[in-house]
Amino acid sequence: MTCELCQQFIKQSWNLNKLFNFSFVKPEIVCRDCWREFEMINPINGCLECQIKTTQEYCQDCLQWFKLGYPKINNQALFKYNFKMKEYFKSYKFDGGYHLRLIFKDMIQQKLATIDVDQIVPIPVTDKTYAQRGFNQVVGWLEDLTFAELLEYRYSNKKIQSQKNRQERLNTKQPFKLAVSQSYVCNQKICLVDDVYTTGRTLRHAAQCLLDAGARDVTSITLSR
Ligand SMILES: [Zn+2]
Ligand SMILES: [Zn+2]
Repeated sequence: MTCELCQQFIKQSWNLNKLFNFSFVKPEIVCRDCWREFEMINPINGCLECQIKTTQEYCQDCLQWFKLGYPKINNQALFKYNFKMKEYFKSYKFDGGYHLRLIFKDMIQQKLATIDVDQIVPIPVTDKTYAQRGFNQVVGWLEDLTFAELLEYRYSNKKIQSQKNRQERLNTKQPFKLAVSQSYVCNQKICLVDDVYTTGRTLRHAAQCLLDAGARDVTSITLSR
């Protein structure tokens, strides 16, 4: 078979457990060379909230979020947002490679299985993005899993997140509203799932929306950071 990312022939099976000290199901559809270019995040010596390297408990960015009154989300990210990950997202999200969900699907689901929550909630995409892309990239990873789409965008014609500069992203107002009645959220322990943690703004707004609706606790997982 050929690698889904570089199209090179995959010669032999290889064992991911040898590369990392915790056992993840190895992705069958990428070659070893491609796989080595993804960098897993080691949460040790990282910010407790976003895992970026810091000598303090929390990094300056996260302290700033707390100061602004946003809730803690304890985000756990699996991989660094490096060149290879950018390439992956380009192929998966922007070039319509829906089958590429399979590279990280098992890993994300294994990670979610370690967390004790009532509801797994993907960050939604706007109607416009959905129409263009044809799928929500986060929902792709949650295939065969029970999850709840509790959130939706207030408006669908917003500028796409990746086209905004950092300041614009930090300044944007609450973009989410509940997609269901409040009773689905009340007293629930929720884990949000998103693709990339950049500033953390999207996840914090999503968490705030759910907490305002009565959620008991909201944490998050992202593939990349
Ligand atoms: Zn490859
Ligand atoms: Zn942080």
